[in-house]
Amino acid sequence: MIASPSAKTELDRRNLYVDGAWVEPSGAEYRGVREAATGELLGTAALGSEPDLDAAVRAARRAIDEGPWGETTTAERAQVMRRFAQALADRAAATATLVSRENGMPIAQSTGFNGTAPVALLRMYADLIEALPLEEIRPSAHGSTIVRREPVGVVGAITPWNYPQALAMFKIAPSLAAGCTVVLKPSPETALDSFVLGDAAAEAGIPPGVLNIVPAGREAGWSLVTHPLVDKISFTGSTTAGRVIGAECGRLIRRCTLELGGKSAAIFCEDGDVDDLVAGLGNASFKNNSQTCTTQSRILVARARYDEVVDAVAQYCRQMVVGDPLDPATTCGPMVSEEHLARVLGFIDIARGSGARLVTGGGRPVGLDRGWFVEPTVFADVDNGDRLAREEVFGPVMAVIPVDDDEDAVRVANDSNYGLGGSVWSADEERALGIARRVRTGTIGINRYDLDFGAPFGGMKDSGIGRELGPEGLASYLEYKSLYVGGDQPG
Ligand code: NAD
Repeated sequence: MIASPSAKTELDRRNLYVDGAWVEPSGAEYRGVREAATGELLGTAALGSEPDLDAAVRAARRAIDEGPWGETTTAERAQVMRRFAQALADRAAATATLVSRENGMPIAQSTGFNGTAPVALLRMYADLIEALPLEEIRPSAHGSTIVRREPVGVVGAITPWNYPQALAMFKIAPSLAAGCTVVLKPSPETALDSFVLGDAAAEAGIPPGVLNIVPAGREAGWSLVTHPLVDKISFTGSTTAGRVIGAECGRLIRRCTLELGGKSAAIFCEDGDVDDLVAGLGNASFKNNSQTCTTQSRILVARARYDEVVDAVAQYCRQMVVGDPLDPATTCGPMVSEEHLARVLGFIDIARGSGARLVTGGGRPVGLDRGWFVEPTVFADVDNGDRLAREEVFGPVMAVIPVDDDEDAVRVANDSNYGLGGSVWSADEERALGIARRVRTGTIGINRYDLDFGAPFGGMKDSGIGRELGPEGLASYLEYKSLYVGGDQPG
């Protein structure tokens, strides 16, 4: 959508951040960003096109090859990152609010994910890189070998709209720590908040070209994927897009990390505690109105406890506070866009036409006619072969599926193309761990589900390739080089 260039609001951001400067988009393209809760115009954001991404990549390349960044020590980079963290911390409350208005995330959650998480990630990776020796000497058969870690180079970071600040920082923080430079291509839906990263980078004195912010559509995004001066693509988004991007990176022999979709399972054993489940459902299944890649939207329940758990999940949904995402009491805000709401409602229609039983929800909430709200919805008696159990809805629509025993639960959980998140609910931690070890998924919680930034995060199967977060997330922005030195010539 092209917004009127004259309609200026405080949320008018008509410049891209390239090479340390705010520049007009070469195609004079602007997007009117809509407020998820009202559908009204929130602000106007510059969108980049191919020439802007090209300029950003070239600046990122220069910053390594010619600028000071390529020569920085780990201690110097850590210092810059801590200044960047402070600049973001000073803006955290405003940023969290802005994201909630863009994508509907309840403010109580946005404060963490879009306010404090990016700050914590920068500080964590600053500490990690300071503690990591970049060279180690190993004795070898003929002398010694210096094993050296070098930055991968220019990183093209492509991010979705659902956790825009945190997911951008999953990539930016380890990249900066490693000594890489970054061209961030955020989603148009959440373009406005992405520019805050440019504000903070400028204030923190990050050298020109080290971090560039160019929100853009898919076509322009593709020019980043294929740009000859990009060394690595770090992509978070749908499996459909990830498959195409991964294939191209394979063709180009370009390093690539793919964080993709999910259809995760929460497994409730017959000795599980329903109160624990109800206490944990907000994080496991409904975080960010279930616009979350790790949403556990398949709830697999031991038959002996089935009716009780179906009732408890439905009751949980009925008491959710659906409404204004800026109200701290809200637990379910709107979907990000009209188009996405239609997609979620479409899945509800598909499930209604299957053999599944609608227990609660199933439409738009009464009295919330503006914005893109949907009722938290539960279908019971879902067959794991139904579309509702196989495809990612990305909205608050749960499929409850009965299972015979632990063995059956593992089988059904693994009967999915995806493998991203999950949880096991049992009074017996050893039993739950036994199940968790057998589920093919990148992360899984026992009687809870919360991300740990210190541990690797990512997917198995169609949920992706590679890991972010923790020291493993840093490793993926480093290349190894072996230098053979000293000793005699081999005979
Ligand atoms: P999407 O794939 O439509 O878009 C994601 C980003 O990729 C956007 O910036 C988009 O503009 C860009 N893009 C899409 N196609 C592209 C192409 N061909 N070339 C270059 N760029 C391209 O996903 P979305 O709808 O924005 O986000 C929701 C999806 O993201 C869900 O599937 C969700 O599970 C997934 N996700 C995964 C994780 C994870 O860590 N595994 C985290 C959050 C979201």
